[in-house]
Amino acid sequence: MKKVAVIGKIHEDGKKILKDSNFSIIDIPDFLNNTIDELKFVDAIAVRTANLSEEVLKECKSLKIVARHGVGYDTVDLDYLNRKNIALAITGSANAATVAEHVISMFLNLCKLSKMSDQVVREGKFSQRELLENRIELYQKKILIIGFGRIGKALAKRCKGFETEIYVYDPYLDSSIISENNCIPISFEEGLKIADFISLHLPLNAKTKYLIAKKELSKMKNTCILVNTARGGIINEEDLHWALKNKVIHSAGLDVFEQEPPKENNPLFEIDNLILSPHNAALTLECKKRMGVETCQNIVNYLNNRSKLVLSNIVNREILNLD
Ligand code: NAD
Repeated sequence: MKKVAVIGKIHEDGKKILKDSNFSIIDIPDFLNNTIDELKFVDAIAVRTANLSEEVLKECKSLKIVARHGVGYDTVDLDYLNRKNIALAITGSANAATVAEHVISMFLNLCKLSKMSDQVVREGKFSQRELLENRIELYQKKILIIGFGRIGKALAKRCKGFETEIYVYDPYLDSSIISENNCIPISFEEGLKIADFISLHLPLNAKTKYLIAKKELSKMKNTCILVNTARGGIINEEDLHWALKNKVIHSAGLDVFEQEPPKENNPLFEIDNLILSPHNAALTLECKKRMGVETCQNIVNYLNNRSKLVLSNIVNREILNLD
């Protein structure tokens, strides 16, 4: 019987797929180093956010696939998996629409000053509504999407409904793909200058660390709204604090942080023109179910039913010669 370790909470519909395929499940709700022993003989690991470093992975003597519940994989040592020919799967189709909706909700919340409007009513200052004069619209605005993969494309589709002009910066994509999606390719520098709204949808790596820092924030319009649902560390938080405090930009929305969870005394918490969420852009009821199902289906297909495997969900398919 094949064994699957499930690290973190995964939707029961996903686990049912494993059970129906006669896999035995080892549930590990809280992953600590002293649970490594339980991983020794597993064939697969389904993982939420736990860190799977080389130190942990090298203890897994029978491992054939790590299946991430999500699309980012900066918490998994991919180099090690590649060296050992172990597959890394992601839930490629489960969460793009969900994260895109979260961005739209942040865009709208920020441009309508929803947080302050709510506060004004609760504090009995209804008649002071004219003081909330910095409210703006998405209609006919210029949106810059940085990173045009699954989520970037899903966001572009949704922004069209607001009759916006959508600009895209993605140096790894042929500009024809951007045009075919009815968006306008633009350089990074130019995009920062013209955008009214900016949203980040690229991975965090050595090249993208602090992609947005003081220099880039200074190029943005002082009416610009910036949202990051990609990864903390793509924006330099200290520089963002400076930009928001000094009204260098209109406002920002963050779902991800340089350190997660952020420290209690993170200086960003004192900033008003900022909304925050606890890395839950993809965690709707519907999406959690889709991610649980896709995570477990990736495992079953890879181990038992290769003809049904969604190849684009296997990050290291070239190394494994699956293409
Ligand atoms: P994807 O792999 O489909 O797309 C990423 C795109 O970024 C690619 O088109 C790539 O060419 C582009 N890119 C890479 N480096 C770039 C650079 N320097 N400048 C501009 N573009 C660059 O990924 P995705 O599924 O769209 O996910 C995007 C990001 O969202 C990832 O960082 C992922 O971890 C994050 N994410 C966050 C949540 C959340 O809950 N907040 C949920 C899902 C995904």
